[in-house]
Amino acid sequence: MDALDAKYPFFASAREAVAAAAVSLPELVAADAPAVERARERVERALLEGTVASESGAFPGESAYDTQAELLSYPIARILVSLLDSDPAIEKYAAAEAATAMERVRRDLETDDELRSVSSATVALDDLLAEFELADAVRPDLTSPAGAGRGAAGSGGRAAGGGAGAAGNTGRDPAHYRIDVGPYLRLTSPEWGDSWRLVNRALADGAVRVSREELLAALEAAVAERVAEGLPFELAADEGIGEALESRVADLRRLLSERTYTEPPDVVAPALFPPCMTNLIEKAERDVELSAAESFALMAFLVGIGMTPDEVVAFCTDTSLDAEGIRYQTEYLTDERGTQYPPPTCETLANYGICHNEDDHMQVAADPLSYYEKRVAAADEVTDWRAGRETEATDEAEATDEADETSEA
Ligand code: SF4
Repeated sequence: MDALDAKYPFFASAREAVAAAAVSLPELVAADAPAVERARERVERALLEGTVASESGAFPGESAYDTQAELLSYPIARILVSLLDSDPAIEKYAAAEAATAMERVRRDLETDDELRSVSSATVALDDLLAEFELADAVRPDLTSPAGAGRGAAGSGGRAAGGGAGAAGNTGRDPAHYRIDVGPYLRLTSPEWGDSWRLVNRALADGAVRVSREELLAALEAAVAERVAEGLPFELAADEGIGEALESRVADLRRLLSERTYTEPPDVVAPALFPPCMTNLIEKAERDVELSAAESFALMAFLVGIGMTPDEVVAFCTDTSLDAEGIRYQTEYLTDERGTQYPPPTCETLANYGICHNEDDHMQVAADPLSYYEKRVAAADEVTDWRAGRETEATDEAEATDEADETSEA
C-alpha cells in the first residue's frame, strides 16, 4: 500500500491495492482497527463539514493515521454511507471526498518537478486525466495569450476563468485547455452559473475552451461521480459488518438529525458575529482571497444563520468573493429543510488558523453558530442587516418613481 493510493483512494490502483492486501474488512471492523475510527471521522466530517481530511492533520505527514488505516478507511466509509442509506448523505459524502481530493491535487500541482521526482505521493494533471480516461479528450490550448497562468479557485466555488499566476500557456501548467464537448457536458452543469452554459463558451472543432481552474472543477465532478458510483450497496448478511458498525451508524444518524434540523437564529446581526467570521469578512473586504477552508467556514456560517444565497451574494458585494462561487457554495450548503452543514467547530477552525480564540470564548460555545446564537439571545437590541436592505430598496424604488414622474411631467 502506498501513500498515493491512500491520498486518492478512489483511484483504480487503490482499489486494486485494497483487493490485493491480505486484510479482511469484516475482521478489521470486528477488531475496531484504526481504519474504522478514521472511516467514521471521514463520514462525519463529510456530512457536517464538507471535507474528509482528518482533524489530526494532513495526510501524509501530519495525520495520526498511517497509510494502511488511511487507505482502508475509504472502503469502510463507503460501508458506513451505505448503511446510512440516504441519498443526500451519499451526495454530500461524494462531494466532500471530491473537494478534499482536489485540495490535495492543487497542492500536488504546486509541488515543483524536482520535489515531485523524489516524492512518489503526488499526482500530475496528466495522471488525473488518464485516471478518468480524459487524456485524449483534454488538450492544452496553446492559442491563448501566455501570462494568464494558473490561479487559485477564488471563493471556493466553481471557478470561472483562470486567475493570475506564474505559468502561461506553455510549459507544464498551461492556463487554458480544450475539452471535448461530450466530457464537458457530462462533467459540468449549467447550474454552476451562466458562464458554464455551452452557448457562452468558445467552441471550436468539437472542443470547449476552459481555464485551468475550470478544468479542475470538472475533474472534481468526475471524482464525485466515481465516489458515488455503486452507493449505497447491499452488505453480505453473513459477514456481520452491519451489526459491528451499528453503533457508529446510529451515532452518525443522531448527529445528522440533531444538526440538520435545528432552527437557525434567522437574524443577520453582523455586530454580533463571532470574531472568526468578522475576521474573514474583513479579510474578504480587503480584497484578499479566502482559502477554500475559510470560504467554506464563512458560507456555512452565513447559511447557518438563515441567509438565502441571494442575501449572501448581496452581503458579500465588494469583497474578494465572487457571486458565482458564492451561489454555487451556498446552494450546495442549503437544502429545503435548512442547512445540513453547520460551520466547522471552533476546534477545527483553530486547526486551520481561522480561530484565534479571542477572549477565550471557545469556553462559551463549541462552534461559531452556537456562539452567535448565544450572543443574539443575550443582546438587548438586535439590528437585522436585512431591515437596512429593505429600507434601501424602498428608497431606491421611491427615487425611481419620482424620477419617472418628473420626466413624464
Ligand atoms: S472560539 Fe469559535 S466562535 Fe470564537 S472565534 Fe474561535 S471559532 Fe469563532
